[in-house]
Amino acid sequence: MKKTFFALLMAVALLLPTAALGQTVKISSDERKMAEEITAGQLSNYLYFVASDAMGGRDTPSYGLDVTAEFLKMNLQKWGFKGAGDNGTFFQKIGLRRDAIDPAATSVKIGGESFAYGEDIARASGSGNISAPIVFAGNGWMIKSKNMNPYANIDIKGKVVAVIGEGPIGGRGLVPMPAGVTQADLPAAGRGTEWADAATYARNNGAAGLLILPSKFLQENWGAVTANFGRSRMVVDKLAPAGGAPQGGQPPMTVLFASVKAANAIFKGEAGNPLNGYAESFAVNPSKNFDFTIATKTEMQWTQNVVALWEGSDPVLKNEMVALGAHYDHVGTNPNAPGDDKIWNGADDDGSGTVSVLSIAEALAKGKVRPKRSILLVWHAGEEKGLWGAEYFNKFPTVNIKNVIAQLNIDMIGRSRKAGDTNPKNKDLSDENGVYVIGAEMMSSTLGAITKGTNDAYLKIGYDYKYDDPKDTNRFFFRSDHFQYALNGIPIAFWFTGVHEDYHQATDHPDKIDYNKMEKIARTIFLTMWELSDLKERPKIDKQLPPELTQR
Ligand SMILES: [Zn+2]
Repeated sequence: MKKTFFALLMAVALLLPTAALGQTVKISSDERKMAEEITAGQLSNYLYFVASDAMGGRDTPSYGLDVTAEFLKMNLQKWGFKGAGDNGTFFQKIGLRRDAIDPAATSVKIGGESFAYGEDIARASGSGNISAPIVFAGNGWMIKSKNMNPYANIDIKGKVVAVIGEGPIGGRGLVPMPAGVTQADLPAAGRGTEWADAATYARNNGAAGLLILPSKFLQENWGAVTANFGRSRMVVDKLAPAGGAPQGGQPPMTVLFASVKAANAIFKGEAGNPLNGYAESFAVNPSKNFDFTIATKTEMQWTQNVVALWEGSDPVLKNEMVALGAHYDHVGTNPNAPGDDKIWNGADDDGSGTVSVLSIAEALAKGKVRPKRSILLVWHAGEEKGLWGAEYFNKFPTVNIKNVIAQLNIDMIGRSRKAGDTNPKNKDLSDENGVYVIGAEMMSSTLGAITKGTNDAYLKIGYDYKYDDPKDTNRFFFRSDHFQYALNGIPIAFWFTGVHEDYHQATDHPDKIDYNKMEKIARTIFLTMWELSDLKERPKIDKQLPPELTQR
């Protein structure tokens, strides 16, 4: 009894403030006029530039991304914005580090015989030296439910574990799943105990390194392996600890690929050669010690967030900011893509957000009046690489981030599902009057009320809150830049029209964009930003936050 009574009480309590806060938002004619400076034609004009092949898909880092940054800066300067990046410029520079192997200084010996790094051995990951005997462990997979355990009769502690597995590498680790094993056999909770791929088992059991022997797939793709794996993954220098050691953890284990020549040298005179199908685990003659001395050189490249400020009119409130953001990067090109189109233009993702924020900036600049609080515009780099730019901005802010009262994020607002479209890839795409709004109700009831109230008082777009749930399996709340602001305790609202058939495809082109809907959404976000900037008090975080936002 009590619970429901309590629930009822809660509902009433909740209703009350919201009803009170559901204050109707009043939009003045000046504000409306400013919002209507944002037009479908303007958005299209900018998007055909930003998502043109000339921008090369705006990878991070890339020439096309830098040109897009210059384009944004050129317009912002022209419109009288203040640079809010490094030292009053429009850019916040971000150093990207890649540890590249120095092949000339890297040596490989097997039983004292030298082999060429980059030809006979290539690094998959890790950067530690190795000097240890070798054991062969079949395909390296331990799966209790399948009675698979190639480690039963060997001791891998302090050894280099050599493994081989047929098929393309990728999905689960670097050694393909054995035939007859499916994802269902590998529940996440059992990883390391009920089952383990080769790298996991080797790491958990103190191996000195992992050596992946040349399966047919690797032999056919040896050129790509040596080309791509010589250099470590690029990381954000100031966000990733030097030497690749994860926070407080062990440096990652060194994992290497071996060529046919190196593999044959290891298994010459042994019980059997895995390249000829021998599958039993055994310890290789210890005289064939594996000595790997690695030398890396750090390559630094640079990219940037684009950061601008439009100063508010109120002498006090102008110290606070409403932040507006999008990511101006996408995934670049794929030279191996089938067909002629190798450029991932990213018109919707996130060209639509990039030019919407730019058009909102232009509308501010054309306005006769200024909002009370200041407006902070951030175009993030590296979103596709893992929210790099947004994490960097929140960890190394170029403004007093404590004064950011809310962040409005726009990522993919350019597409609509047309009536009669039965393509399953478009099933969750919003229709010509719909948009998903995520996060607005999750942290601050004031932000939720303003977001909803502005739309109700203006174009009454079909605001869909379906994904506004941290438990949503698509996890959209966690998948774009706003999440880094939310982690920083800033209430956020995120606009998104849904995934579609061209999502992360070369075909995400500007001629597929619904500019009329985009215009409506961008205008409404402009007015939402304005309402927030003129609030008497900044929105409080008054909602029960999801654990991801509280466990820091
Ligand atoms: Zn995106």
